[in-house]
Amino acid sequence: MIAVMNQKGGVGKTTTAINLGHALALSGKRVLLLDLDPQAHLSVGFGNVPPDTPGMDAVLLDGEDIDEVLLTVRDNLDLVPAGPGLSNMEHLKEGGTERGMRLRNALQRCDRNYDAVVMDCPPAVGLLGMNALFASREVLIPISSDFLALQSLSRFMGTLQFVEETLRRPMTKRVVMTRYHERRRLAREVREKLQEYFPGQVLDTSIRENTALAECPSYGETIFEYEGRSHGAEDYRLLANEIMHGSWH
Ligand code: ADP
Ligand code: MG
Repeated sequence: MIAVMNQKGGVGKTTTAINLGHALALSGKRVLLLDLDPQAHLSVGFGNVPPDTPGMDAVLLDGEDIDEVLLTVRDNLDLVPAGPGLSNMEHLKEGGTERGMRLRNALQRCDRNYDAVVMDCPPAVGLLGMNALFASREVLIPISSDFLALQSLSRFMGTLQFVEETLRRPMTKRVVMTRYHERRRLAREVREKLQEYFPGQVLDTSIRENTALAECPSYGETIFEYEGRSHGAEDYRLLANEIMHGSWH
């Protein structure tokens, strides 16, 4: 279970969830993608998912089973879309601590066997984010290559520490640099700082800035369908490889 998360918006969470998910599926893993962002960009990115299709809203608010709402969008790749009511989750008052455990419980009830569950999270650690963290063993944190990103990352690491203390279990935290410009000194400096502050947690693979990655969602295609030989495709293939061999073998 991997939560793709960062309190900052626009850092490449959704791009990473889609393309990492598809890269894993293409390498033969059985993958479930969950769209936990009410903006539903992940659901849109696969094309052909009508906006009123129920999904995570039904699971988290009405106790629906994941098996009832999942859609098979590619070979080896299932998706639970966000659903039109997902933003109501953040306004939920009743339920106490049980509200934060709903995703974890729903995944435990799910009969299918997946090698990986990848969750695309909203840019805030509200109730949806908490559900993702409580259900995950691993957090993948995309960060853009600028110095402000470093600051917000320190804050986010603090939040994760709080969750680990609450759950009394450590989580694997991995940082992946996105929108990376290899030739810019700034990007390299940010990488060095990251490695200094978060030793052992920064992945070797960086996702380079690549226009094809920004274009493909409007065609309802992943990078492997849209431009399989682009830098974006190459980087997400490498990322999938690094993640698989780092934690599941
Ligand atoms: P988030 O989910 O964190 O808000 P997105 O994945 O939606 O971020 O990315 C924000 C914007 O940046 C989108 O328009 C996306 O297409 C673009 N983008 C993300 N990663 C890259 C990249 N490596 N190269 C070029 N554009 C990118
Ligand atoms: Mg997003």
